[in-house]
Amino acid sequence: MADEVAEDAVEVNSELSAENVFKTGPVAVLTQVEKTYQLDSVSVPVIKGVNILVRHACFTVLLGPSGSGKTTLLNMIGCIDRPDKGEIIVADTKVAELNDDQLSDFRAKNIASAKKRGNRVPRLLEAVGLSDRAKNLPGQLSGGQRQRVAIARALARKPKLVIADEPTANLDSHTGAAILNLMRRMVERYEISFIFSSHDPDVIKAADDIIFLKDGLIQKIQRKGVGESSR
Ligand code: ADP
Ligand code: MG
Repeated sequence: MADEVAEDAVEVNSELSAENVFKTGPVAVLTQVEKTYQLDSVSVPVIKGVNILVRHACFTVLLGPSGSGKTTLLNMIGCIDRPDKGEIIVADTKVAELNDDQLSDFRAKNIASAKKRGNRVPRLLEAVGLSDRAKNLPGQLSGGQRQRVAIARALARKPKLVIADEPTANLDSHTGAAILNLMRRMVERYEISFIFSSHDPDVIKAADDIIFLKDGLIQKIQRKGVGESSR
């Protein structure tokens, strides 16, 4: 059944294939990335020199305790925020070389975050089991339903990279499985890369790569079929 809903969404997005098929380099490369927040006169280092290669057409999960810097890191990979030091390359583009206008165009073209709006939402809502609620206002949806709407909107775009910060936190297991299945198809058929922060064991199990973050540092990166490496 989960396969059927995934097929439905894949059909809706069949035009996604051509521009993504030949892209095989990493979708994101972070080199010695640092981020420090200023709280009054105090500097708080949050990301302390991080090297990450986010593989193309893979599902990457970012794992780490609360306060370890997951949201900060995802915001930088998603080009919502800029690092203080180090280099970020997304979709073969050195993000630091773009001004704010160019960056927002770049984001719109290449990156979907689960909070962004998109087109073709109704069919995608249907695909994740929400079509009967599509007419409802967001305020009338439960937390879990809003999560599904957010994922559907992210997938309705034509992104190279979809980023979501703890997206399945409030989902029942059936809905979570449907979303994971849909995402898997998007990875395999359309070579969309996903990076989610999550503590959900089902999400972690579905990942190709798991990045372990602690206190703003990468502890290890585990890649399915590759084993572990330090970056
Ligand atoms: P996680 O998502 O893993 O819980 P965050 O990236 O949200 O971690 O936060 C990492 C650390 O950075 C925390 O100690 C948090 O308090 C701090 N932090 C996050 N955003 C800000 C900010 N805008 N200003 C100051 N400190 C922040
Ligand atoms: Mg967070």
